[in-house]
Amino acid sequence: MSVNSHIEWTDATWNPVRGCTKISPGCKHCYAETFAERFRGVKGHPYEQGFDLRLVPEKLAEPFSWRSPKLVFVNSMSDLFQDGVPDEYVEIVARVMATANWHTYQVLTKRSERLRDMLQTTLRFAAGEENIWWGVSVEDRKYGLPRIDHLRQVPAKVRFLSIEPLLEDLGDIDLTGIAWVIVGGESGPGARPMKREWVVSIRRQCRKQRVPFFFKQWGGVRKVKNGRVLDGRTYDEYPSRTVSAIPEKSQCVAFAEELFRGFQNLIQPNSLVRVTS
Ligand code: SF4
Repeated sequence: MSVNSHIEWTDATWNPVRGCTKISPGCKHCYAETFAERFRGVKGHPYEQGFDLRLVPEKLAEPFSWRSPKLVFVNSMSDLFQDGVPDEYVEIVARVMATANWHTYQVLTKRSERLRDMLQTTLRFAAGEENIWWGVSVEDRKYGLPRIDHLRQVPAKVRFLSIEPLLEDLGDIDLTGIAWVIVGGESGPGARPMKREWVVSIRRQCRKQRVPFFFKQWGGVRKVKNGRVLDGRTYDEYPSRTVSAIPEKSQCVAFAEELFRGFQNLIQPNSLVRVTS
């Protein structure tokens, strides 16, 4: 986990899965891939295997050890719903989020059909949890907009869109059932430009449909210089968050042990070290 994440719309990241494969144009300059591949072959580094998909069960218990409520971006370095992640593993990640419910989790995917299918069935228990926000990435019309329709079919309490990197004008968007919209441009070498009118169109639609709007950044090669001011101000709106009591540490250990007992085939014996430390 990384506390104090540099990502503007979250407090922390939690990566019980590492690595991913590209699926649509938004993946072209994937920051996670660039970061992970830098460490391929570096012995003992968490990304020794570069961006290859790996389950990281020793990370599963981490949320139980965080003693203050956080906004947690789940799998900032991966996509939980990619094919290579077994259903059982996705389920235990969801059970951790539902149990360590003093945090608010942001789960973002481009695999919106699997998200929908699992939340309608095996993950139904987690769909209704207000502390778990389920979201899809939307970068363009062709790949991004259908994901919104899939997300709308999810019986979730909080659904959100990460419209980043915004690659073209999205036109009219149906925001029915959507609780939060994040917009941002691509950053880094080779960043594809984002036009102001594309952003303004989304802001206008959010206002009209009463959806909180978060403007993350303009992006570009010089991201810091370009900043995140839109028409003279920043936009840092969020959906409302629930508040849950934080149990005693001993209770957290007991929760984690009980939770993982049913998934022993997937979890290493040392998985609970971080809860007890
Ligand atoms: S889905 Fe996300 S993590 Fe996976 S390659 Fe695309 S941008 Fe990277």
